[in-house]
Parts: sequence; C-alpha cells; structure tokens
Amino acid sequence: MKYAMVLVNIKGLGVKTFSYLIPDEMKDIIQIGQAVLVPFGRQGLINAFVVGFSDYIPGDFRVKKINRILDKTPLFSLKYLKLLEWVANYYCTDFVTVLNTALPMRLIEKNAKVELAVSLIKEDGEGLTKRQKEILSLLKERGKSSLIEFEEIAKTTRTTMKKLADTGFVKIEEEYIYRNPLSIFKDVPVEPLYKLQGEQVDAYEGIKSKFKSQNPILLHGVTASGKTEVYFKLIQDVLDEGKNVLFLAPEIALASQLTKRLARKFGIKDVAIWHSSIGEGEKYDVWQRLYKNEIRILAGARSAVFAPLQNIGLIIIDEEHEGAYKQTNPAPRYDARVVARRLAQFYQAPLILGSATPDVSTYYYASNNNNLFEMKHRFNNSPLAKPQVINMQEHGKAAYRNIISKPLQTEITETLERGQQVILLMNRRGYSTYTQCKACGTVIECPDCSIPMIWHASIKQLKCHYCNKEMTFPDYCPQCGSDALSTSGVGTQKIEVLIKELYPNARVERIDSDILTKKNAHIELLSKFQRGEIDILVGTQMIAKGLDNPNVTLVGVLSADSGFSVPDYRASERGFQLLTQVAGRAGRGEFKGKVLFQTYNPEYYAFQSAKSQNYEKFFETEIKSREEYDYPPFSQIVRLIISSENNFRAEKSSMEIAMKFNSMTEKFGFSEYVEVLGPTPCVIEKINGFYRFQILIKNKLSQKGHDFISKFLNKITMPKDIRLAIDVDPLDIL
Ligand code: ADP
Ligand code: ZN
Ligand code: ZN
Repeated sequence: MKYAMVLVNIKGLGVKTFSYLIPDEMKDIIQIGQAVLVPFGRQGLINAFVVGFSDYIPGDFRVKKINRILDKTPLFSLKYLKLLEWVANYYCTDFVTVLNTALPMRLIEKNAKVELAVSLIKEDGEGLTKRQKEILSLLKERGKSSLIEFEEIAKTTRTTMKKLADTGFVKIEEEYIYRNPLSIFKDVPVEPLYKLQGEQVDAYEGIKSKFKSQNPILLHGVTASGKTEVYFKLIQDVLDEGKNVLFLAPEIALASQLTKRLARKFGIKDVAIWHSSIGEGEKYDVWQRLYKNEIRILAGARSAVFAPLQNIGLIIIDEEHEGAYKQTNPAPRYDARVVARRLAQFYQAPLILGSATPDVSTYYYASNNNNLFEMKHRFNNSPLAKPQVINMQEHGKAAYRNIISKPLQTEITETLERGQQVILLMNRRGYSTYTQCKACGTVIECPDCSIPMIWHASIKQLKCHYCNKEMTFPDYCPQCGSDALSTSGVGTQKIEVLIKELYPNARVERIDSDILTKKNAHIELLSKFQRGEIDILVGTQMIAKGLDNPNVTLVGVLSADSGFSVPDYRASERGFQLLTQVAGRAGRGEFKGKVLFQTYNPEYYAFQSAKSQNYEKFFETEIKSREEYDYPPFSQIVRLIISSENNFRAEKSSMEIAMKFNSMTEKFGFSEYVEVLGPTPCVIEKINGFYRFQILIKNKLSQKGHDFISKFLNKITMPKDIRLAIDVDPLDIL
C-alpha cells in the first residue's frame, strides 16, 4: 500500500485522521496500531497512530511522508478497529468519536516511549562524572528541549538525570512513572477458591453447558446468593484453558472492590483494573501490558469494554441492569453490554450477565433462548428480609415533620440500641425539591432549564440539578411579588438534618452526588460505614448497591414511590430494581434484617412485587405492557433530540426531520415496522437554555430496520444553530 491513514490529536482540532505517504524502507514493517512520527504543519513532528492503509487518496494535494516508526509493537489490532467501526455504525456516530472514547489520549499525545521530558540549562559539565557528561552532550546534540526515550532511561540514567536536575544542569519538565495500581496488595497471599455448593453447582454447570451458545447467558440470583463465587470458578476454568477474562462492574467503586477480590483469588500479577479515572500514565501502562498479553483478568467499569484485552475467553457483566453501562453524553452513546456482546462474538467467547433484578429485555431474551439460570437463596441461607409497607396516607400526619414515620423511628431506635447499622434511602438529593409561592403558586425554575431549582441548605443556594446553576433564595416571588415563598418536598440533605435531630447521639453521614466534588469521598464514606464508624447512612441510589455489611439490619426507604411516577416507559423497572437492591442490603450476616418502605401508593404493581421480592411477578406484568405498547424488547428505540436556543427553530427542524423520515419509510415500505413518534417537546423542555424536542423511532424489524434508520440518520445535516443528538437504545425518554 502507498498511503497510511494515521490518527493525530491536535490542540483545537481534536482527534483526526490524515493520510501520509509510506517511505519504501517502512513498507515491510509498518502495521496498524503502531505509533509513528509525522510532520504536521507548523507543529513540526507529532505523534500519530496508524489506523489504515490505502493505494489511493481523493484529491491531488501533496502528501507528506511518515518520519519514523516509534514502536514496532502495535498497540491495537485490526480486529480492534473493526469493533470500533461496528460501534460507530450501531450508534449512528462517526468512527473518530468512538476512537476518542476508546483510546487513552496519552497514547496519541505523547511519544509512546517518552518517559522524561527535560531541557538543558547549563552546557559545560565541569567536575561531572563521565556518564553525566555523556548525557549533557546528548542533550546538547538534540537541542534545548529533549524527550528522553525509554531505552535511554534505564534506572541508572534516571538517577543520573535526577542528580543533574538537583545541581541545576537540566530541568525535568515532565515525568511519567509507572505505578502498579494494585501494589498495595503485594503481600496478600492467594486464597483458594471456595467449593461451590447447592444452587451454585447447578448454576455453574448450567452456564458451562451454554458456553458455546452465541447468546448472552443470564445468571439471575438474589443478592448474596454467591454469584461472584460462581463467576470465579468459571474464570478459573477459562484461565486454565489459557484464555483471558473481561469482568465489568457498573461503577468505579464496585470495580475497585471487585479487583481486590480478584487479586486475592488469582494473584495481583494477572489482574488489572481499568476505568475512566485511572491516571493517563497508568492507563498507558496497562494498555501496553494488555496488548502484550501480560494481563489475564481485566476488571473495570464501562470504558473497560474498549481496553485491548487479547484472547478473550469469557466476558462477565455484573449488575447488568445498571444504567451506568450506558453512556448518554457525550457521543458515542454506547451501552457496554451491547459492545461486550459484539466483542464476545468476535472472540467466540461466552458473555455472562448477572443480576438480582435483571433488565426486562435481558430476562426476556435469556429465558426465550434457554440461557437463564437462577439462584433463589442467599448463600448462608439468611432469609431475605420481607419489606414491610408503611402507608403514609395513614402514618403521614403523625410522622416527624410529616416525613419520618413512627414505625420507622421505632425500628431505628431499636437497631441503634443493638449496636447495628441503618441505611436510609431517599432518592433525591438536595434539601427540598421545589420552592413555591404560596400566594400565586409559581414554582421557582432554573432560568435555563425547565425544572424546579432545588434548595441546598448546606451551601445556602438554590441549585439546578441539570446545569448546576446556583442562585440565592429570592426575597420576593418573581411573578406576583409576594414574600410567601417556601420550600417543599424532601431531599437527602433534609433527611440528614431530621435524622440528626431525632438521633443526636448517632453518627450520621450522607452520600449523594453532591459530596462527589471531593475525589473518593464516596468510597471513603462507604468504607467508614463498612468498618462500623457510621451508625446511620443516608443517601440516594448510590447506597443501594454493592454494600455488603453484615451489621446492617435495617433499611428504610423514605419515599418509595418517588421513582415510579416519572413519565418514562422504564420507570417501573427502575423503581422495582432500586427497591429490591436496597432491600438486599439488610440482614446479610447472622442477624435478621428489616426493610421498611414508606409510600403513598401501596397498591402499585411494581411496588407490590418489590415488596414480595418477586421478580417473576414483576416481569409478567411488565412484559405485557411492553408488548402492548411496542416498547423494548418488542421494538428497538432510537431517540432523536433536536435542540436550539430558538424554540421555534428547534420545533421546525424536528418537524422537518419527522416528515422526511415518514415519507422515506412509506417510499421504501417500512412504515409497518418502523414507527415515528413526534416531534414532541421533551418532558424536560429546556436544559441549559436549549429548547428540546424529541422524535422517537420504534423499530420492530431488528437489524434490517436499524440499517434503514441509520442510513437515513447519516444523511441528515443540521443548520449550525440546531443540535441533533442521536441516542440508540436510550436509557430514558425524558
Ligand atoms: P453475590 O455475588 O450473589 O452477591 P457473593 O458471591 O458475594 O454473592 O457471596 C456472598 C457471600 O457468601 C460472600 O461473602 C462469599 O464469599 C460467600 N460465599 C459464596 N459462596 C461461597 C462458598 N461456596 N463457600 C464459602 N463462602 C461462599
Ligand atoms: Zn407569587
Ligand atoms: Zn439549569
């Protein structure tokens, strides 16, 4: 081939591909995935990655030559690029956007081999050692600023360099030091795997018998049924065959916990972690080790699905129902489960999805394919606490500040007296949920988003949960001028305050995304709770997952119906999942657990099934309504959000798109299978000053329909003042 397409990352331009001529001497060695140096305008030589070849380029402009290959070992393969290409097609976005998400930028920005960037300050080396002089003259030869490469920076060189820096001969501008993220576990001896028991054996054998199945396998097991130990046994088998394992958890804290557990069982040498917050240097290092096949098990959050793990023999996605597997913003709006499924097909490896409360679609497909395995009991046979419902229509009046009911208060008191711990779930952050004028009824909304501003007592500001805009509490109603403004509704901050008033001697802490401004605050609080240094933990859904604390015997949900009332087809599913998950935190050890749901709608079906902890019952009802209204799994949804600062323009554009699409579906005979709904204003009509309209496309023709839709969407061009976001399989339609 004559030309190489290379990927560069340039300030202001972002990640782009360009074509370069391949010099004859490189023709035999150049490969996809290699790091190269290329000339780029006034910037001189910059780093790039080879992503493709061609014999022909459009246009007749002069193409420059690749300067040199930095590293013969490629950092990704053609197979890898194929996967990314598939993702771009499926999510109706461009390849470079996907690459941008998948590749750690350090790989592109910096020379693959650079470890130290130094500049020379003094040239003459009187009284220096021979080696020091050598280095100085090397730097002098190369010009003032130099990148010292990997081979040259063997340990001794680095020490020498440090000395030179200390004595003022050179200045070290930047340094990348590899840190092993797991080094803290260095001394932990490897523990043997547990012998599986009872239901675990059946699940293990069942799953094993489906390893060759092309479809995802679902392990539906109640919380603490021992699913993780089943995964471990399966992992061991796959490692024994010489293959590698990718293991995803929905979020960073859970991925870290999991990595520790994996390291203890399989040894730290073979295990690595990957998520968006590990340092760039570390990412770079893990990436190289992955590519060299030095890592056998990779654990991580969503983005780990793009790490270049080789020779995959098994993919596990735990807590598969979690929304965190889907990236909603920015594009690519991918779902790690969907990408993992594709990856599994590439490697002909099994994909196991695990959950106590599976996604309705996952459950539907797995049971239809006979790929469903269940574990209905906790491993230690401690009974699942049956939630008790507190009807707030009766108990509301007598409740503390109408919020914390008498029965819940009694249970909290007794739990504290026994020296045990309490979890209180309030799935809304902030202090109150809205501020209203008692004279005219006006609700104070964010000026840029059409949602109520929420009072945050801790910072004494009203805050918008969409754009984070803050404002001081107004003295007068902006509508009628009355001063009768008051806050209503409840958020986590208020619960924290009320609980502290009721239990002044208890150690109370709060976890919600408002505390996440401090890095790791959330993880620290969770481990404090785990160590028994917190008596009552108040929080949003962030406390509903992962916590495995045998001393927690009471879980209270303050406003159990809050999730169900949202106008979204998945609201019941999410509400059911949240209640079931949080209930599963109670009584995991030897002590019996209690769960209390406070609600104003005790009869609601999803609520009833959460109460009886009966997934099948919930599924039966839910799947019927999905079928009736053609929602997933009976259709695939593509959501278009058209937004603009100009309300009228946004609406007009959306109508044009819908009309064009409708005439296309008719023309090509798709109208029976591909349905267009809208445009309608989004439930949240305005965010950040942008008016939002949505079009929902329901596709009942799987792949063929999707191809048709994406072909259409790829052709749409939007005027500059209008944004179009395409979301394939959206998490919600709000
Ligand atoms: P899940 O993943 O379903 O929530 P885990 O696998 O974490 O459940 O198991 C719950 C608890 O039971 C853990 O502390 C685990 O170590 C223990 N456990 C599970 N299976 C076994 C086994 N076969 N032998 C001994 N302990 C086990
Ligand atoms: Zn008013
Ligand atoms: Zn706002």
